Amino acid sequence: MTAAEPAVYRLGEFHPFESAGHRFVYLVQSAGIFELDEVSASVIDRLARGAASSQELLEHATAAGFSSDDAVGTLEELYSAHAILNGEVRAPDGIQHVPSHVPLQTLVLNLTNQCNLSCQYCYEYGQDKLATPEGKPKFMDWETAKQSVDFLFEHANRRSPAQITFFGGETLMNFPVLKQVVEYARGKANEESRSIGFSLTTNATLLTPAIIDFIAGNHIGVTVSMDGPKEAHDKLRVFANGRGSYDIIAPKVRELIARHRTRPIAARVTLTGGVTDVIGIFRHLKNDLGFHEVGFAPVTTSPDRLYAINEAGMDAVLSQFHQLADEYLQFALRNELHGFSNVSDTLAELHQGINKSHPCGAGFGLMGVGPSGDIAPCHRFVDSDQHALGHISTGIDRAKQADFLNRGHIASKYDCHTCWARPVCAGGCHHEAFVRYGDTGHPNLHYCDWIRGWTGKCLHIYGAIAAQNPSYLRHFAERRGE
Ligand code: SF4
Ligand code: SF4
Repeated sequence: MTAAEPAVYRLGEFHPFESAGHRFVYLVQSAGIFELDEVSASVIDRLARGAASSQELLEHATAAGFSSDDAVGTLEELYSAHAILNGEVRAPDGIQHVPSHVPLQTLVLNLTNQCNLSCQYCYEYGQDKLATPEGKPKFMDWETAKQSVDFLFEHANRRSPAQITFFGGETLMNFPVLKQVVEYARGKANEESRSIGFSLTTNATLLTPAIIDFIAGNHIGVTVSMDGPKEAHDKLRVFANGRGSYDIIAPKVRELIARHRTRPIAARVTLTGGVTDVIGIFRHLKNDLGFHEVGFAPVTTSPDRLYAINEAGMDAVLSQFHQLADEYLQFALRNELHGFSNVSDTLAELHQGINKSHPCGAGFGLMGVGPSGDIAPCHRFVDSDQHALGHISTGIDRAKQADFLNRGHIASKYDCHTCWARPVCAGGCHHEAFVRYGDTGHPNLHYCDWIRGWTGKCLHIYGAIAAQNPSYLRHFAERRGE
């Protein structure tokens, strides 16, 4: 295809945005970000008024003072980036295959389904729980854990690092098995000259100096589930007797952050009705307690639960996200790390040009294993008979896996096919979709405006960094979100 051929051009599928005085388009087909110079902006503006032939576009550009060489080159560039099309119909997405045999990269081991807290919103125990743990082991034994490590090594790509993430219930209630897994997996990786990484999520109540030393010594990434200062945290993160857990965990978290210097320590906040002071929570966790990163997620629940966030609450959350994102940008322009991980995770996806067939790796690049050895699409589906994708002793049930992945594929989500945010959203979390709509493959249509608003904000931040401090973008080359 050259601009000299008689062709009628029209706009491709993109989301336009401006940042720091520069114009950009986010290209939906390729998930690329393209900065418009004056010539390309003039072509795009002309096509926004209606389709035009190549001759008309060249005349338009030269009449605006651009050279004919520049105009031809720009048409070719915009065409090859899919920012403009010449009449052909393209499939809604470049990605049409279900990646059932993609190597496993991350295995989440739910070491126990028991917890010493009784957080009312917990998806494992709360009113929206999917788990059917009756009659199954409460703690993963060493044999199941060892089989899980072997399973990961068998299914992971030898050339890229494999990852084991420990989860619960409360993960540290089964610390002895966690320790055995780290030692065994590290030894096996050394024998096979492979690379392995570890991370864990904890409520921090059971941290001791010895556990912290083990975690630090083994470079284990830690995410602490914590909802903010005492008043916010103690609303729902309580022991069985109703007592809040803040006073128990705050000193342990301080000690963890002081002693564990080998990996950044993250806080993961669940926002609920009445716990939506995003900025206050961020300041406390980042500045008072010293977490390196703080990430927020609105609670996953049916809308009628008492702790659900209503529409006004979600608007307040989004507006505070925007304020923190503006602050993040100022930090980035000064080459400082801000720590609001919701921005970092989205910027990484934009920077890496990720164009998702599925909202996350659940069911192919990432799987969960429960204490019973059942394989689940991710940690949130562990112990749910309905969602099991096999057993660690017998392997993956490929038919069930294919069904899960077909349902969750963007090609199956017709409502998403005209949405410009689909490369990063792909319909949203399978678990939330099941809780809300009873189908893991249903797009999470209740938060589309929110997702598009947030993705638009992150594009704006990305464009401003790209225009004003492009070397900062190196921070996003390797980063991975959930
Ligand atoms: S769920 Fe909504 S925001 Fe996400 S891709 Fe689909 S239509 Fe877009
Ligand atoms: S986004 Fe949802 S389905 Fe995917 S890994 Fe996270 S919790 Fe599981």
